[in-house]
Amino acid sequence: MENFVQSNIAPFRCINCDAVLAINIVQNSIWDTRFGIKQEYQVCACAGCGLEQTIPMPNQAEMNKLYEQFYNFSGERNTRYTKIRERFVNSFLYRFWLAIDGDISFHSVNGSGNLLDVGCNEGRGLGFYRSHGFAAEGLELNSKAAEVARGKGFTVHCNTLESFTTEKKFDVIVLSNVLEHSLNPGAMLQHIHRLLNADGQLWISCPNSRSWLRSVFGRCWINWHVPFHVAHFSTDTLRDGLKKSQFQIVKMRQQTPALWVAHSIIAWLFAKPGQPTRPLRSAGLVASLIFLIRGLFFPLLWLGNLSKRGDCLVVVARKI
Ligand SMILES: [Zn+2]
Repeated sequence: MENFVQSNIAPFRCINCDAVLAINIVQNSIWDTRFGIKQEYQVCACAGCGLEQTIPMPNQAEMNKLYEQFYNFSGERNTRYTKIRERFVNSFLYRFWLAIDGDISFHSVNGSGNLLDVGCNEGRGLGFYRSHGFAAEGLELNSKAAEVARGKGFTVHCNTLESFTTEKKFDVIVLSNVLEHSLNPGAMLQHIHRLLNADGQLWISCPNSRSWLRSVFGRCWINWHVPFHVAHFSTDTLRDGLKKSQFQIVKMRQQTPALWVAHSIIAWLFAKPGQPTRPLRSAGLVASLIFLIRGLFFPLLWLGNLSKRGDCLVVVARKI
């Protein structure tokens, strides 16, 4: 990787502190193990702040095209997999599942006040937040997804966080698997700070770059998710980023959703460069694996979380 960086006239710069990205994290190139995007990537850690980043990083226009082509409503709607997933999430079984598998998206938290779900998609999270006492609304750039959420009775703004202004301040802002997608996570946190009440809370979940599963699965770890995952946070880099943007961590815990482990196993078994990994959307295979993993390997998942090497960081932070 040193050669890779040095061979460029302008070395890649950190999106957080502008220092040079110098330390390669992966032995070999990694690729998109979900959709089959035909490009190889590296992940480098910043020599200044330690934040890991995907290289080469698409610019915003390129990123928008990639989302349009591969994400959400472009490729997947009303498939057998999505229908079964929706049925499960709307059943009483889902609450039971959250209790044993862990709730990384704050779907079981009770409270009150104004809540903004950034990247709310078609409003699944909004439904949970509303039913648990919050006045919930969303930000969603995908107009089709936003329309579906509006159809459920929610206010959804088709804005970027940067362009979003409102009279109202929020008591809670949720970034559930969103921050790692940002081309400028520092700016994202600052805009959230602007939109929160004086004692407002920010709820974050994102993959953990120190996950033991990343060591086990190597380039097939599902949470590389290049190029969509731009920044790869650890407890330290996330804490530093929050502190820099004037947030204090109230609670930080680690979870390892069985679904994420199942996806890593499927990627390890089936992913090939440049080809979509279709078994990731096999409802039978995914369901069998998650029950197997949760049933048999729960002590490993528990130990991983306890030793701060779980797959997902779940953080509640307070504006200061
Ligand atoms: Zn840096």
